[in-house]
Amino acid sequence: MARSVLVTGGNRGIGLAIARELAAAGDAVAVTYRSGEPPEGLFGVRCDVTSMSDVESAFDKIEAEQGPVEVLVANAGVTKDTLLAMMKEETFTDVIDANLTGAYRVAKRAIRPMMKLKRGRVILVSSVVALAGSAGQTNYAASKAGLIGFGRSMAREYGSRGITVNVVAPGFVDTDMTADLDVAAIIKNIPLGRQAAPGEIARVVRFLASDDASYITGAVIPVDGGLGMGH
Ligand code: NDP
Repeated sequence: MARSVLVTGGNRGIGLAIARELAAAGDAVAVTYRSGEPPEGLFGVRCDVTSMSDVESAFDKIEAEQGPVEVLVANAGVTKDTLLAMMKEETFTDVIDANLTGAYRVAKRAIRPMMKLKRGRVILVSSVVALAGSAGQTNYAASKAGLIGFGRSMAREYGSRGITVNVVAPGFVDTDMTADLDVAAIIKNIPLGRQAAPGEIARVVRFLASDDASYITGAVIPVDGGLGMGH
């Protein structure tokens, strides 16, 4: 039977590439979306990860449609960049709420059914800036670093239940999130000399969700063209 997968923020960008990759591998894939229409061929559930009641009702719908979530990809994320000296408290807490507390909300809702299944895969989408830091992104980097401690703690809590928890740390990926950045300036620091395509992140997530990754948990996997080397 197809595994039940949820990719948050799977309606575009890296999340959509992950959703398509897992669907092509034979999984039943649900994605969250906040507005408009969900992508063709995927089960869309309207859900803002900053709302626990949205998360609850999304999981209820997914469980009814395709069974308990066996692979959870917490990918939804936002940036609100500005220097700390200018950063309002809500600019900090909004980003933490979506990127870190959002992952808590979906993982919290997913974990009991996974424990019952006695198997599960949780993959958290962090960033190279979690460990390297990034000027103008104290809020975002803190949220992404938080995912590492969160994920590793989960890995320790649920390893004995057959659940693995891993973190993927992409570098500079060609999506809406990076559309306004100065590509030429950034790629100077990337050993591979280019941005990643979303599919290059998706294929690593597919591996972590597969049987081939059965003995990997608590890992932080850089997918950054060498940008974060040494961290
Ligand atoms: P995009 O801006 O293209 O997409 C972001 C996705 O997250 C959208 O699907 C968006 O949904 C969803 N999302 C944002 N906030 C919420 C929310 N509160 N509730 C539900 N969904 C939400 O970004 P990317 O595809 O580039 O990023 C995906 C992940 O990868 C993010 O966590 C990002 O931080 C991370 N990342 C990206 C990198 C890059 O270079 N692009 C590098 C490293 C990490 P909606 O369509 O409704 O807005």
